[in-house]
Amino acid sequence: MQREKNSNPKDSKIYLIGSGIASLASATYLIRDAGVPGKNIHILEQDSTIGGALDGDGDSEHGFIIRGGRMHEEHFVCYWDLLSNIPSYDDHDISVTEETFEFNSRFVSHAQARLLKDGKRVDLSSLGLTLKDQADLLKLTFASEKSLDNLRIEDWFKNEFFESNYWYIWATTFAFQKWSSVAVMRRYMKRFIHLVEGLPTLGGIMRTKYNQYHSVVMPLKRYLCGKGVQFHLNTQVTDIDFSFFLDKKTVTGLHTLKNHEKQKISLGERDYVFITNGSITASTANGSWTEAPVLKYKSTSGSWKLWDKIAPKNNAFGNPGVFSDNIDLQKWYSFTATLKDNTFHNYMENFSGNVDGTGGLVTLTDSNWLMSIVIARQPHFPNQPKDVKVFWGDALYPDNEGNYIKKKMSECSGKEILEELWYHLKVQELMKPIVDAGKVNCIPVAMPFIDSLFMPYEQGDRPDVLPEGAANFAFLGQFAEVPKDCVFTVEYSVRCAQTAVYGLFETEKKVLPVYDSIYRPDVLIKAVKTISK
Ligand code: FAD
Repeated sequence: MQREKNSNPKDSKIYLIGSGIASLASATYLIRDAGVPGKNIHILEQDSTIGGALDGDGDSEHGFIIRGGRMHEEHFVCYWDLLSNIPSYDDHDISVTEETFEFNSRFVSHAQARLLKDGKRVDLSSLGLTLKDQADLLKLTFASEKSLDNLRIEDWFKNEFFESNYWYIWATTFAFQKWSSVAVMRRYMKRFIHLVEGLPTLGGIMRTKYNQYHSVVMPLKRYLCGKGVQFHLNTQVTDIDFSFFLDKKTVTGLHTLKNHEKQKISLGERDYVFITNGSITASTANGSWTEAPVLKYKSTSGSWKLWDKIAPKNNAFGNPGVFSDNIDLQKWYSFTATLKDNTFHNYMENFSGNVDGTGGLVTLTDSNWLMSIVIARQPHFPNQPKDVKVFWGDALYPDNEGNYIKKKMSECSGKEILEELWYHLKVQELMKPIVDAGKVNCIPVAMPFIDSLFMPYEQGDRPDVLPEGAANFAFLGQFAEVPKDCVFTVEYSVRCAQTAVYGLFETEKKVLPVYDSIYRPDVLIKAVKTISK
């Protein structure tokens, strides 16, 4: 069925469920490219802040906190396009895109201590793949996606693959597990084949000046508020009414919950809804210096409950349970450390050979928890004083007992997590007086759905951004289907936004194509040389 595009949206109301980058990008494109008046756009967010996964909060007294930090690359074409019109956080005369490219020309990613074992740097002149592993990797890159339905990475590779430097780098750079979808791994291999040469040093990785809440979300919010967009916080969408007539699917109403009060929004014929279905940061919980975070489940997640509710209404709406029903396989934990002292950062700079902001991940390969840390360029928060330092870390196996702390990471306080880290880095003596002087804080975070987007799935489990016959709605985010692009990226969510807006409205614009470096022989040759080292 040919979808009729709206060429005169002056009176259309648009409801965006969620305020992550997918919705913020949609709102921007609706205003910029489709001519929707900002005041007609309503962003409904269950949390008390906007930005979804792109968070960044705290201060030097209570500790800074980010759930994660984004690695970007030059060919995030939709993302850089989006931010090319948005004035940056610090300097309103330049865009976020300009700021970020300039920042990365000064702080070039070139990790010198990507993997550590027994506290020493691992020699990465070889990635340690056998001929069989290399052949399996290449075979996977050129396999058809359909043939990989429901398969896990461990179904494809032999056990020895998982002991290679390549796997340690791959798994910890992108947060893959052995049981993650091999179809997603294939997409990553194809989509980012131009980055394979730089994998051991994180070459080609770009970062924003500050954390992404301040560098990306705040500027977008400022732009959208200036255009009159209406943000409705603490507002959860609990159900969506659809009408199905012949091939046509139309949203007719939204059910919301705000301060325990139920409301219904009825949609007119020319009104629209954009739904971020599922969220990898849903139900996250913070711990503290003295307390471990308490794992939460679906009951606190508006996104998963809403998708569970609407999926049975039509078989084009996907299968949320495939991604969300096995928290033990999806969860991992991160932590943010705040230090009123330079010692650790100075030590890491000398040890790794990387000034802050150029090293990226340092992974402790012999950590039972598989712990990594990232030291971003300081300050990472605009309100971070000069003499305060922060770093972020994660652990992919939070249910293993630590090597030094004989507890699961998931049961550890911030203090215990750092004790385990000091042990691996052999800096216990160095850090003890600083910790004893109360100059260190660390906030751990439990993320029950963080790897849900990597769960093995089959085609149809993610709904299309614009399902067949969808007249006035779209799915957005990491659980909508976008051919060729890779989940666990901001680019994927922004690509959904472009696809939705340009598909439903007359804009004279086309969705920017995914950068296909796989067809460049020079790129392929370099990638093959790298994996065969
Ligand atoms: P989300 O950010 O999940 O936003 C969804 C929002 O919608 C949430 O605020 C939620 O509360 C709200 N919502 C959902 N349903 C409802 C409802 N029913 N009612 C009201 N509100 C609702 N990306 C990269 O590109 N590179 C990286 O290196 C990278 N690393 C990451 C590391 C971590 C630890 C994390 C957490 C993410 C990382 N990502 C990375 C991924 C990237 O941040 C996310 O994919 C992206 O931000 C998702 O944006 P989104 O808008 O699609 O969804």
